[in-house]
Parts: sequence; structure tokens; C-alpha cells
Amino acid sequence: MIPVTDHSALIVVDLQNDFCPGGSLPVPQGNDVVPVIQALIGAFSAGGQPIALTRDHHPADHISFQSRGGPWPPHCVVGTHGFDYHPDLVVPSRAAHFIKGFTRDRDAYSGFEGIRIGPGGEMIGETLADYLHHHGVETVYLTGLATDYCVRATALDALREGFTTWVVVDAIRGVDVKSGDSQRALLELAEKGAGLIESAR
Ligand SMILES: [Zn+2]
Repeated sequence: MIPVTDHSALIVVDLQNDFCPGGSLPVPQGNDVVPVIQALIGAFSAGGQPIALTRDHHPADHISFQSRGGPWPPHCVVGTHGFDYHPDLVVPSRAAHFIKGFTRDRDAYSGFEGIRIGPGGEMIGETLADYLHHHGVETVYLTGLATDYCVRATALDALREGFTTWVVVDAIRGVDVKSGDSQRALLELAEKGAGLIESAR
């Protein structure tokens, strides 16, 4: 199991119904990461370390949708089933939630572009970087969907923010619009200083 040290945090990217099989923008085998991530959530909870979850949070006429000339079918529209976390994911109450892509005319792949919301969906406004720094985090472990888009973008920003960044390779899945996109993303992240690690649960 990944060492849960005092200055580490778990980041779960976009583990939402629309990105899982049956959703509007499914990542192949996206749901396979749920038990892997659940085990990591358990370990980080037991270790008392921060857990941050990000979500795509789009209005119905979001700029990234094909109806507006964007690359994607409608997905993760607020108030729909597709926006919700995968139903098998049990999220501890102490986890912090961040939303991104909530502005009609601007898309956001990185969790670091998101802002924190409270349990009732109210805006708290704290950024992911603020939250991690506030908790003394030095090392982040990245999991979730999709490797070649939002995991990649979040990992690049984590590196830019100066965090020691690990990508948990059995806790991510990619879209691979072009064959090999996910593998290329991992190579790019490794070249820029991210570590690749197995959860070995
Ligand atoms: Zn999106």
C-alpha cells in the first residue's frame, strides 16, 4: 500500500457517472478504479490525511459541448445523474469537494482550476492549492478519470505548484481518443517529474 505519511494527500479526479460505462462520455473500464480508489480513501482516512475529490460541473449549454462547437457530448451537467459520483464510491464526510468547468464559456480540465464546495453544494471558494497548502501537504497521489485529460492536467498543475506528485497507475483509466494517448500522457508526466506508482492494495 502507498505510504500515507503526514504530509501527503489523496486526490480523486472526476469519478462521476458520465465518465463511467453507461454515462454520456464513458472512459473504457472507468468503473474498475472504484475499488482501488475506495481502498486508498480508507487508508488516507485512517491516516488522518487530506482527501480531495474533483468533479466536472457543467451548465447545460457549456462551451465544451458539441452543440457549442466543443469536442464533447454533454456530460456532468449539474443536477443530472451523470454529475454524481459513481454510486459505489463511499466518500467520507471529512473529504473536500471541488468543482470545475462551472462557467458557461470556459472549460477546465485541472482540479487546480476548481473551487471548493460544501456538503450542501454551497460555494466555499477555496482552491485546491489553498486547501493542500493549508493542510501542510507536500506530496499528492493522483487517481481517477481520465488519464489523458483531467488526471494529466491536474498532475501538471500539481507539479507546477511544487508538490511531489505521484500518479497511481492502477487507479486511473484513459479515454484514448487517439490510441496511445494515455501512455503518452504518463510518459509526459514522468518526464516532467511525476512518479508512477501502483497502489499495491
Ligand atoms: Zn467536462
